[in-house]
Amino acid sequence: MLCNDVKRVVYFFLDGSLGDRRKEDFSQHLNLCPDCARRTSVHSRLRNFVQRRLQRSNAPEKFKTRLSRTLRAIGAEWS
Ligand SMILES: [Zn+2]
Repeated sequence: MLCNDVKRVVYFFLDGSLGDRRKEDFSQHLNLCPDCARRTSVHSRLRNFVQRRLQRSNAPEKFKTRLSRTLRAIGAEWS
């Protein structure tokens, strides 16, 4: 897996929706590439933070969807 692939699938990885095979590729790349490892941990923290917020506020589905779309846009900017 290359850096560009990692950027593209980071959300699937964090979602747990990446296949086993690709998940392994992904982890292997993180071990070899500090840049991607750092980026992934930023995404992961951001995601956890927002999810905790959403759980507490009991936000409606529509809002959650919109927010997760916004997050992806932010993530893309940081990549
Ligand atoms: Zn990389």
